[in-house]
Amino acid sequence: MATTSQNIFLTKKEKLRCIQCGKRILVGKSFVAESEKHKGTCFSCSPFGGYVLLPPGDAAMTRRSKKHSTLCGVVWAWNQRRKRYERQGQLVEEIAIEKAKIECEKDQGIRAEKNRKAAIVREQQDKEYIINFAIAIRRRYPNCPVKREFDIAKHACEKYSGRVGRTANAKEFDDKMIDLAVEAHIRHAETNYDDQFGKGKRKKEIRKEVRSDINQVLKHWKK
Ligand SMILES: [Zn+2]
Repeated sequence: MATTSQNIFLTKKEKLRCIQCGKRILVGKSFVAESEKHKGTCFSCSPFGGYVLLPPGDAAMTRRSKKHSTLCGVVWAWNQRRKRYERQGQLVEEIAIEKAKIECEKDQGIRAEKNRKAAIVREQQDKEYIINFAIAIRRRYPNCPVKREFDIAKHACEKYSGRVGRTANAKEFDDKMIDLAVEAHIRHAETNYDDQFGKGKRKKEIRKEVRSDINQVLKHWKK
């Protein structure tokens, strides 16, 4: 049977109480519940006493230690800068971690090889993506200087690296996406935008000033 997961929040809420012992749960302490909006218990009243924290980052250990544990407590801490809860690891039984370690040692070589192959495929997909994006840019902006479409595509892909692993046909890129990438490139490469900072002007103001220069270049590249 699959191991049941429960959430454990290192809470940011000030008015939480344990539904079992009634004690206040202080900020930063564990609140075991589906979410902070749900009812939950303090750590002492939860079934996780004696459990061990497995830090995040090793997918095989995470999966396997969960499988071998009676329960799995997923620990979440609030990241103020990003305004969201982030996973801090999981609480599992110590024996489950030991079993997972043994399993991982056994097939370490196979998993390393799999990861290596996957990395090569990803790299290849990235290259294809950049080439297809560059083709799409050239199609929409036929007068764009020679090879510039590759600079634009590469830069845009680095900026939005979240899309790694997705292959796209040159025909699938939408115009809006192409325009944004080309505009960003022109702003930096073809206008004095970057030189305007540090002179007491605000970003919004500087953007407004270079707008007509950008439009002119766009028009020239397009026809
Ligand atoms: Zn309690």
